[in-house]
Amino acid sequence: MTDLAAAPDPHIVIAGGGVAAIETLLALRALPGGASLAITVIAPTPFLTYRPLATVERFGAPRARRYALDAICRDFDATQRNDALRRVDIEQHVAITARGERVPYDTLVVATGARHPSLENANTFLADDACSLNWLQPQLQRGAIRRIAFVVPGSTGWSLPIYELALLTAARARELGQLDLAVALVTPEEVPLAAFHGDGSAAVAELLREAGIKLLTSSYARDYDGTTLTLTPGDRTLAADRVITLPRLKGPAIEGLPADKDDFVHADQDGHVPGVDDVYAIGDAATFAIKQGGLAAQQADRVAATIARARGAAVREPSARPVLRAILMTGAQPLYLRATISGGESVASSASRECPWWPPHKIAARHLAPYLADRSELDPSTAHQRAVAYSLAGDPAVVHAEPADGGIELLGRDG
Ligand SMILES: Cc1cc2nc3c(=O)[nH]c(=O)nc-3n(C[C@H](O)[C@H](O)[C@H](O)COP(=O)(O)OP(=O)(O)OC[C@H]3O[C@@H](n4cnc5c(N)ncnc54)[C@H](O)[C@@H]3O)c2cc1C
Repeated sequence: MTDLAAAPDPHIVIAGGGVAAIETLLALRALPGGASLAITVIAPTPFLTYRPLATVERFGAPRARRYALDAICRDFDATQRNDALRRVDIEQHVAITARGERVPYDTLVVATGARHPSLENANTFLADDACSLNWLQPQLQRGAIRRIAFVVPGSTGWSLPIYELALLTAARARELGQLDLAVALVTPEEVPLAAFHGDGSAAVAELLREAGIKLLTSSYARDYDGTTLTLTPGDRTLAADRVITLPRLKGPAIEGLPADKDDFVHADQDGHVPGVDDVYAIGDAATFAIKQGGLAAQQADRVAATIARARGAAVREPSARPVLRAILMTGAQPLYLRATISGGESVASSASRECPWWPPHKIAARHLAPYLADRSELDPSTAHQRAVAYSLAGDPAVVHAEPADGGIELLGRDG
């Protein structure tokens, strides 16, 4: 069988140290002959941050995990550069870093994520900042909040965390006996959690109804003056002592690469940057509408396969139809959501109380999830189990965290 070893020492440069970048590294190494590739990872931060559990963490679950990139790069024999991609010389095939280094590449994968500037006049939930929203629990406990609104901003690639925060807040208020807390959720989406349009979204609507959360769809929060939220269309208002929102995402603005008006790097459905040879953009950094770790990982797997095929390896083409998988923490049993995506939109979705994929990670990534599960001390499903148990039992101390079934490489129970 043809493999990547047939090509002379191709140098793959991966810019980024998040889900998309590391899934690309793992997927390349898993390919036939992938062991012979020279791979460099350029990232300004020394950790891969696992953000999805940051919401439950604010309600007392164990701290969300970070994984040392140097250990991951060692495990997968990649050269790590603690730097940032600033510019690409597409003619010369050279990546230029923030420190002014010139790194030649045969193939460049841009997986630099999105910048997260805060919004004014509201509390922006910043998952990477452990202090973000650390006032919420104590204020709920003291009964200092009477009306709280959760707002999905006009442009966010992944709205689920705001639903989770609203549900967890309502659940915690019930536990504390704060039964008159008014919780509202404002979103420009036409239906709740529109990425799961259909059965998934209907199940989320039902959860919000059961939790007594007032839902305002097709609504943009235009202004917040500390007591009143103004919504458009229709100049409506909503009284709120506190407003919690998500960051607006902004692309990475890499000089030399084509980008949209928000600086996201243009990429086609294969991750290829149009008009630029041997450069791919994936994950939050690219122009895909939904910005989600599981999707970023599927893009990474597809790019890895494309790189291998371009070099003549006999590798099966991964499915072009991405599957969105998510776990919504509710304060009680989590809801497992799944949707098939086409043209950036959900075409079929479902919701269940059992996790239909394995390992049961919030970021469903073919290579990264089993890798983390295999190293039980790093395993997010351990943290996930603790978080689920915490949200059920309210006391992390009583949880017996079973390590996940290490090394199982299936995300395939759901097809
Ligand atoms: C609160 C919250 C909850 C979430 N929950 C889920 C969930 O349940 N499931 C899910 O699948 N997704 C979830 N997501 C989304 C998920 O975290 C992102 O979609 C995912 O991390 C995107 O991966 P990425 O590699 O593209 O970007 P990131 O994970 O942001 O990684 C970007 C990397 O690039 C590095 N970088 C930045 N600039 C440069 C540069 N110029 N050069 C080189 N490197 C650079 C950064 O340091 C970082 O290492 C959640 C997000 C948030 C905020």
